[in-house]
Amino acid sequence: MKAQTFGGNGGYGGVNIMKCAAIILAGGTGKRMGAKVPKQYMELCGKPVLYYSLKTFSDTDFIGEIVIVAGAEYADKVQSEIVDLYGLHKVSSVVTGGRERYHSVHKGLEALPRETDYVFIHDGARPFISSYTIERCLHYAEKYKAAVAAVKSKDTVKIADDDSMVQSTPDRSHVWQVQTPQTFEYTLIRDAYRKLIDDEERLMAAGIAVTDDTMVAKMYADTDARLVESTYENIKLTTPDDMELAEMICGRVMDSK
Ligand code: C5P
Repeated sequence: MKAQTFGGNGGYGGVNIMKCAAIILAGGTGKRMGAKVPKQYMELCGKPVLYYSLKTFSDTDFIGEIVIVAGAEYADKVQSEIVDLYGLHKVSSVVTGGRERYHSVHKGLEALPRETDYVFIHDGARPFISSYTIERCLHYAEKYKAAVAAVKSKDTVKIADDDSMVQSTPDRSHVWQVQTPQTFEYTLIRDAYRKLIDDEERLMAAGIAVTDDTMVAKMYADTDARLVESTYENIKLTTPDDMELAEMICGRVMDSK
């Protein structure tokens, strides 16, 4: 199947053409940033953080539709002050998120059309995703059903116990830090998330934290994800230091244009 290209009009059309969608997550509160507004709405080089990844996905030809997941109190603002203001026509809806990231992902998945073939799940707090990484994620998702942007760990990683005592040292050549987008066959991940939501109480009782989407694919669809080498610039803004770094990256990107 061929990836469909769009003229920026959003929506799906055509027959036997691959339909790719993105879910951009912006439903978190970003407490660790300590700012008045969640990190994805803070200003970066004159625009909201969330704008940058939306723009990159919008400018990627084969992405046909984008769903944004936002906190209930921000949904209208996201629509008027980001989607409408910057003319991001591929955004089909802004839906409200849930308590945990996985609730927000589930809501985003349910907002997409049944006929979607591949979905990219991306943190709105990662403004520096490149179209090249998005393309490579699709390439590997077509082959393996699940693919995730990641970088090799530059540091040695230690596994510790509850008292911060080192328990083991994984071989660094096999340690990766995962990012987003996490990319999947749509029905596989949608159905896996439905099973996760049904199983939520048991997971909570067992103290199992669901921190990324490839975990869900493994647990509920028995699918292993392919790691796709991404860039160290694709940082997730979490603490105030990250904002300073992001301003520098943003300045450099703008200077090079
Ligand atoms: O909190 P964390 O940094 O892991 O959040 C990653 C992404 O998931 C952020 O873009 C955040 O807005 C989003 N998120 C969400 N709904 C939540 C929690 C986080 O959409 N309940």
